[in-house]
Amino acid sequence: AIPLVVAISTAVSAQNGLLIRNRTAFEESRKISALLFDKTGTLTKGDFGVTRIQSVDDNYSQDEVLRLASALEQSSEHPIAVGIIKKAQEEKVTIPNPLNFHAITGKGVEATVEDKPVKVVSPGFLRDNNIPIPKDAYSDAAETVVFVLIEEKLAGYIALADEIRSESQEAIQVFKKNDIKVLMATGDNEKTARAVSEKLGLDGYYAEVLPHEKVEIVEELQRKGEFVAMTGDGVNDAPALAKANVGIAVGSGTDVAAETADIILVNSNPKDIANLILFGKATYNKMI
Ligand code: ADP
Ligand code: MG
Repeated sequence: AIPLVVAISTAVSAQNGLLIRNRTAFEESRKISALLFDKTGTLTKGDFGVTRIQSVDDNYSQDEVLRLASALEQSSEHPIAVGIIKKAQEEKVTIPNPLNFHAITGKGVEATVEDKPVKVVSPGFLRDNNIPIPKDAYSDAAETVVFVLIEEKLAGYIALADEIRSESQEAIQVFKKNDIKVLMATGDNEKTARAVSEKLGLDGYYAEVLPHEKVEIVEELQRKGEFVAMTGDGVNDAPALAKANVGIAVGSGTDVAAETADIILVNSNPKDIANLILFGKATYNKMI
């Protein structure tokens, strides 16, 4: 016979856009005391549009910043890359082909374009390399900003805007009613992270987070006695998903993230996690 828990969890997942990989995850979901969300594509839609392009080096125009950045981004699947390519197409940019393209895990992308090394990176990358952030970069709190380095020097930056998912608000109400702390860890800048956190009324956030720091955040919460669930979508999130008490891979995710996770959140919808927790609690309250 199929154990009741398995039968129930299969039914829950089928209806709710969840794939439960680890049988105990459904039972464990009612113990969650802290939820650590990633931002892009989970709490927000992950649908970026370019709002500003700025040159900070007289050798490179605004158009040149976009042209070189898009050479790299055409090889990336990140939502930021999709937004930049959309802009390049609108502007009818002739996008050059990059050589030696690769991702700098959780920090950006790099390649050689027309014999020059080019990078498009996060604020965390600049911090790590002691490159000062231009003072007007964060003039709008709602914007995500990525930085374009040419020959290791800052040439300009591109600002993009994303929107909060309407389901995030509803999900967070459910978590709050159930005394679950809701936190966010993102590679994005402090100002944008704070704006999203305040809009959603989160209990806290971590900004400009580098990949290895996600594991440390999970451990710190666990030391404080929290039973931690965490969402993540990238290869770089896999170690933290493994460390969390309940690891939730978002979307189709990358294979590595999905393989490490206990649960796969098929539609990237935070509301599905809320339903899982409510259903878990209701089921076990009835059984006891
Ligand atoms: P998040 O923590 O928001 O899910 P990721 O871990 O996917 O973000 O990436 C962390 C940061 O690295 C992003 O906020 C962005 O600044 C930078 N980044 C990652 N991939 C790219 C890319 N293809 N182009 C530009 N920046 C990128
Ligand atoms: Mg991510």
